[in-house]
Amino acid sequence: MDIVRIDNESRRPASDYFLKLLNSTSYGFCVVELVFGGNNRIDCVFKEVNPAFEKQTGLKELIGKSFYSLCPTGSQPWIGRIYDVIIRNKNIEFIEYFASSGKWFEISVAPFGEEGSNLAAALLSDITERKIAEETLKESKARFQALTETNADFIWETDKCGRYTYCSPQMKNLWGIEPESMLGKTMFELTPEPEKKKYIQQFDAILKTTLSFKNFESISCDSEGKQIYVETCGVPFFDYHGNLEGFRGVTRDVTIKKQQEEKLRNSELKYRSIIETANEGICQLDENLVISYVNESLLKLIGITNEEVTGKHISDFLSNEEFTKIKKRTNEIRKGNRKTFDLRFIRKDHSEITFSVNASTLNDDNGNCTGYVALATDITSRVLMEKDLKRTKKKLQTALKNANIGTWEWNLRSDELVLDRRMEGIFGLKPGTFDRKHTSFENLVHEEDVQYLNEEIKKAIAEGSTFESIYRTRPVGGKCNHILSKATITRDRKGKPVNVSGICFDITEMKEGTEKALIRLNEDLLRSNNDLQQFAYVASHDLQEPLRMVSSFTQLLQQRYADRLDDNANEYISFAVNGSRRMYELLNGLLAYSRIQSRGINLAQVDLNSVVAKVKANIKLLIEETGAVIKCGQLPAIKADESQMIQLMQNLIENAIKFRSGTPEITISSSCKNEMHIISVADNGIGIEPVYYDKIFRIFQRLHHSEYPGTGIGLAICLRIVERHGGKIWVSSKMKEGSVFSFSIPA
Ligand code: ADP
Repeated sequence: MDIVRIDNESRRPASDYFLKLLNSTSYGFCVVELVFGGNNRIDCVFKEVNPAFEKQTGLKELIGKSFYSLCPTGSQPWIGRIYDVIIRNKNIEFIEYFASSGKWFEISVAPFGEEGSNLAAALLSDITERKIAEETLKESKARFQALTETNADFIWETDKCGRYTYCSPQMKNLWGIEPESMLGKTMFELTPEPEKKKYIQQFDAILKTTLSFKNFESISCDSEGKQIYVETCGVPFFDYHGNLEGFRGVTRDVTIKKQQEEKLRNSELKYRSIIETANEGICQLDENLVISYVNESLLKLIGITNEEVTGKHISDFLSNEEFTKIKKRTNEIRKGNRKTFDLRFIRKDHSEITFSVNASTLNDDNGNCTGYVALATDITSRVLMEKDLKRTKKKLQTALKNANIGTWEWNLRSDELVLDRRMEGIFGLKPGTFDRKHTSFENLVHEEDVQYLNEEIKKAIAEGSTFESIYRTRPVGGKCNHILSKATITRDRKGKPVNVSGICFDITEMKEGTEKALIRLNEDLLRSNNDLQQFAYVASHDLQEPLRMVSSFTQLLQQRYADRLDDNANEYISFAVNGSRRMYELLNGLLAYSRIQSRGINLAQVDLNSVVAKVKANIKLLIEETGAVIKCGQLPAIKADESQMIQLMQNLIENAIKFRSGTPEITISSSCKNEMHIISVADNGIGIEPVYYDKIFRIFQRLHHSEYPGTGIGLAICLRIVERHGGKIWVSSKMKEGSVFSFSIPA
């Protein structure tokens, strides 16, 4: 440029030397003259042009040509500039693009020649390459800016100590911090205190290596204190001498990824702990059936340690038969069927365990089988139970067969009645011929029993859970069989009956046998009862005579020898007299008791009023002695044995006087209920506790041994008399207030 600079002092025509120089230089050079055109328009005319100018601009034969002639329509900014240079006498520089050559030039224009001449010289320097480089740089800067601003990651540059020299705008989005405020600070400015030291140490070690680094994980906090997990990658950059200048890199927010990883870890932990603690055995095999994992439960169940089993082939633990089964199943599983099958395993101690195995394949992302996972449930006890059940079922079938018991099932929803072959046989049908209709079954039952049977079963279905009935079959050849049917009623959850299932068997022979046995038993009983009656009668009657002898002779002994014997002997004799008297009373009572049964009953119309009158006469002395008051209402006349009625009423009235607590007051009354006369004898005596209401009617049962005389036979006689007349006897009482003895006799 110095060569062609033309200043005010050097305004003189170019020497040949300079022209030569200009012609050979690669800079374009021209001299132009400012002229006034025809229409008073300022124009410039080329006066001198060096070859480089023509080459660079691509314009040819320029000398003498005006700017407008070269470009009549286009604007002519050059002309204005040259005008300025000449008129104002100053140098100017500018950059211009020449479309004719497609190049950029830096142009220096200076006044040229004598003062007052309208000449100016221009020197062109080709800056096309620089211009392109500048444009490229601009473009690359814009690209960089666009990338850093739009990138979701935080882009940064640090000095060699890790202090930020550039922070992309993403800093604001991620941390809520202005990027400029972080310049000169390290990334650990944002790390919470407890972790800070650890990260700084780790990062310093990275910096020292001056190597690029990847995935450096750290925790930082945003402007509101929220924790953000970040991952940083960086590359070092160096100066011309190879000294580390700093790092450039990217920091990515991996909080969500971290949280997901955490979740995954937790869920893996959770599932692992479920698998570890599951009651079911779980095991994993690789595709070659080598065991890769066995959970605790399964180890316990098979009695093997983890070391003994992991890495071993499954065939090492199974019989040939079971291994063949496994191979077959795994082939099926590979075809996509999840399989459940039973597997028997023999433990080291030779005990056997049976598993129900549910197995499926483990697949990689492409769906290729990489192994198997199996869930094994110990079903040993179930298998044993099933075997047991089978045995029991067989036994039951045998028992049913031997006992000829048929089974039946009535589905209440479909009204279908299923009889087994034996039951068909019991009803005289050929096996498999019953048409399962309930109405058809009614035709198999004796017509007199159909209604009763239907009512019974209806009642059971409505109210109960079981059914039991005996009915007859329809007569075949004049003979009908007796059937015992028992069933259980099954209900749904709402209690609605859905099914009746039961058994039935022919009890004809049994029934006939039982009836015969009952008749025989009854006859035996009657016979033995008679014998007993006979014995009691004979014993009490025949014992009376020798007893009378003992009694009368001891009494004689007492009367005649009392004064000759000592006190002891007299006391013994009086014991013997009393004992024989008591025995006499008992024998008399027993005799009276057995006579009621042994003697025939003499039924006639008996007026109970006269019965009471006769009783009163019989015990007149007792009534007078005790001052007893006997009130008697109007009593009915009944069909009875009069002497037994007197015995009955006398026993009751005598007891009412005997068990008195003051002057006895006795009321005899009657009523009629359900075609029965009820006669009551009420007293105001000592009363009876309710626990003894039944006991006192049994023979020899007495409540007051020492205070009141008696044999304990009176009420037993009363019971026997009333029962012989088809009635009942009972008592009600209140202690210390009195008792009411009532008996019923058919009206
Ligand atoms: P006995 O009168 O000879 O003892 P009974 O068979 O007549 O035998 O009576 C049985 C028992 O019933 C009596 O011993 C007495 O304890 C009780 N008993 C009977 N009648 C009455 C009554 N009217 N009041 C209270 N107790 C009575």
